[in-house]
Amino acid sequence: MGKTSKDKRDIYYRLAKEEGWRARSAFKLLQINEEHNIFNGVLRAVDLCAAPGSWSQVLTKKLRQNAENDDDVKIVAVDLQAMAALPGVKQIQGDITKISTANEIIKEFEGLKADLVVCDGAPDVTGLHDIDEYVQSQLLLAALNITTHVLKNGGVFVAKIFRGKDVTLVYSQLKLFFEFVTVSKPRSSRNSSIEAFVICQNYSPPPGYVPTMINPLLDHKYCDFNQLTGPNRFIVPFIACGDLSAYDSDTSYPLLLEGQSSYEYKEPVQGPIDPPYKDVLEKTKSMQINNS
Ligand code: SAM
Repeated sequence: MGKTSKDKRDIYYRLAKEEGWRARSAFKLLQINEEHNIFNGVLRAVDLCAAPGSWSQVLTKKLRQNAENDDDVKIVAVDLQAMAALPGVKQIQGDITKISTANEIIKEFEGLKADLVVCDGAPDVTGLHDIDEYVQSQLLLAALNITTHVLKNGGVFVAKIFRGKDVTLVYSQLKLFFEFVTVSKPRSSRNSSIEAFVICQNYSPPPGYVPTMINPLLDHKYCDFNQLTGPNRFIVPFIACGDLSAYDSDTSYPLLLEGQSSYEYKEPVQGPIDPPYKDVLEKTKSMQINNS
């Protein structure tokens, strides 16, 4: 590729270089703000999945416009990858799905609350849509979990989502924590991409909700769901699905079903190839042969 061919192809890539942003993503956050006014009055913010740092650049610029002194602005940026230093931005290198990283972020805030949390996290895309969507929602849930610890009531959360087939479940989870949940697609986000951004405003967790680092979806070692009590247990509404006329998996039915006149036994299509009980079965078989 020639030196200028990417510039010809991608206007935002070119503009980012011209305007000094570390990535074209800067325009996504700027355009989200044009529509949703997310920086209004914001002094403290968390930038999750921040490298190479164009959103942190935007945050620094916009938040300093809100402050009398630059020191009044607090920005914490987190990424798996190392990021070149940015004045006024505290960096943490870590995985946002790990509890240890979440604890580091919380510690940085020293009990103070953030006005805004943003997350532009994107996994390495595999091209297998179901897996990509799953990993993307795991990132979003990790970001939401951290957000419940650091965001002030009334605060704003902005995060990248993939508009896949199960995205409404993600919306309903967010809606439990925020009064307004909107999905936005900035012009600088390519139409060919299923990426969009959720703008969650007026953080208002369910009454009695206590932020907990135990996240049933992310912490796979955790298995006692009954440890969660009160409103914390109602994170996801349960929705039963399937036609009521379908067979009930808990009911015993006669061998001859309605409309059938005979019953024919069929072998399982594929039995276990190497089950752990194989040795015992073989020993039992040989004992039976020896005894006969
Ligand atoms: N907003 C950034 C900017 O404007 O420069 C661009 C972010 S880039 C699209 C996505 C970032 O997510 C990558 O830097 C990647 O390392 C980060 N990321 C992906 N999974 C992560 C995880 N589990 N924890 C922390 N960062 C993660």
